[in-house]
Amino acid sequence: VSPGLGIDVGGTKILAVVADDAGRIVAERRVPTPTGFAPLVDALAQIASELMLEEPAPQGAGIGIAGMVDLAGTVVYSPNLPGLRDAAIGEALAARLGVPVRVDNDANLAALAEATRGGGVGYEQVLAITFGTGVGGGLVVGGEVMRGAHGFFGEVGHFVVDRDGPMCACGHRGHWEAIASGTALGAMARTLVSSGRGAGIAAAAGGDEVAGEHVGVAAAAGDRDALELLERYAANVAVGLASLCNILDPDAVVIGGGVADLGELLMEPLRVAFDAELEGVDHRPDIALRFAALGGQATAIGAAILAGAPR
Ligand SMILES: [Zn+2]
Repeated sequence: VSPGLGIDVGGTKILAVVADDAGRIVAERRVPTPTGFAPLVDALAQIASELMLEEPAPQGAGIGIAGMVDLAGTVVYSPNLPGLRDAAIGEALAARLGVPVRVDNDANLAALAEATRGGGVGYEQVLAITFGTGVGGGLVVGGEVMRGAHGFFGEVGHFVVDRDGPMCACGHRGHWEAIASGTALGAMARTLVSSGRGAGIAAAAGGDEVAGEHVGVAAAAGDRDALELLERYAANVAVGLASLCNILDPDAVVIGGGVADLGELLMEPLRVAFDAELEGVDHRPDIALRFAALGGQATAIGAAILAGAPR
């Protein structure tokens, strides 16, 4: 299969790649995300035509976008890209480039890439979840992303795990994202430090604002407060993961986003907490927990795969 052009439109930056069928990136460009529909289409047309001069992508282009994308590829609503409401961005870009353009949600495309070219290779039903600023995910069955009746399948960050839990960025209380995102780990660490504990975490931050990565540094050095904090955070991740696995019964879960850099420091307490939460754990086949393999480029690679997927 010929390479496809894949573009990840995030809240602050656009990443465009040409990827081959194995998911390997052969060319890439980055530009800041402009505000508003017309400037965004201009920026996408420019970056895409530049890349296609360098590396032809005869399959056309795919776009992954942080927001709700319907089955026709229209961006219905995007909290991070407020200029986009009912935006037919694929159509506009196709008219400019003269090649077909397909659009999907960024988490769906990251899941597609991880399931078929990354951490989920070898598994049939893969739940791929990214723990970053928020929590996003997708379910890939036999190489196909589940889309739901309207395109909004798998908004995994926004189900209630604790009605009395903290407020979510979306305005509802107790969503999983509010306790399990990378942002939430940073907030838990700052709360600990401001309570007078977590000296090792504060030292790792070295005067900068305490964030999730500092918990990892302190935990790797054996700091007890950091290890305890990671155990609490892993339990927050596990409560949502186990519930999703009870509902969806995947054979593998692929964990991506910034917290994946914690490696075994996270995976070890996560496996224990996940097994404790999962229904009938002693009587069912193992659900593999794996780390993502494609890093921050997963959505762009997934968009390139979407460009070349059968129509
Ligand atoms: Zn929410």
